[in-house]
Amino acid sequence: MFFVIGRKTVPTFPDHALRKLLDAVARRIIDHAEELTALDSAIGDADHGLNMKRGFEAVLTDKANILAKPLPDALKAIGMTLVMKVGGASGPLYGTLFMALGKELPADPTPADLARALAAAVEAIKARGKADFDNKTMLDVLGPVARHLADGTATFESVRALAHARAEATVPMKAIKGRASFLGERSIGHMDPGARSSELMITALCDELEG
Ligand code: ADP
Ligand code: MG
Repeated sequence: MFFVIGRKTVPTFPDHALRKLLDAVARRIIDHAEELTALDSAIGDADHGLNMKRGFEAVLTDKANILAKPLPDALKAIGMTLVMKVGGASGPLYGTLFMALGKELPADPTPADLARALAAAVEAIKARGKADFDNKTMLDVLGPVARHLADGTATFESVRALAHARAEATVPMKAIKGRASFLGERSIGHMDPGARSSELMITALCDELEG
């Protein structure tokens, strides 16, 4: 099986794709931990980068075990590790993302499967966090990217650009959910840390798949 995104054709999961994708996402988050923590220090409690770094370091430590599983079980195992290790609000929510992807995706997914699974995962995050779009959260990146994947026009470039634009779009928003909502109007003018971590994960996936 191959993913065809834009004009690039890339191998999918039975190859070594999951190993590379997992490394790419984990490394990107770990490398940007300070930036994520700085964003969270403006409108939260300055731990988002540390939380995410701790979670993805644990995922890397458990990599051999994770990669021995078929894709759906591997994604569920990543989700469980994130729930246990990230903590805060984002741990259960990113855990829900990966567990829902594991529940929805077959072992050898097509791009259509991926679009459908991400849409289902976004709904699961909304339900778990009792949040909606435009609340200034990770959902403001994940939701639009899921919709874009489903519209059949996605390229690596368009997905990256959308994730970036949607993270930037959280700057003027007032936070309605999570710790940042305690600041009310003072949450305006800062990028949401979870929106940025979602952008980083999506961008790392695109970069790795594009090769
Ligand atoms: P905490 O807020 O507990 O310190 P983190 O700092 O790790 O946890 O994560 C904060 C991020 O979690 C926010 O930037 C936001 O994107 C996301 N978040 C918080 N609450 C919700 C929610 N109810 N729904 C979706 N995302 C949320
Ligand atoms: Mg925090």
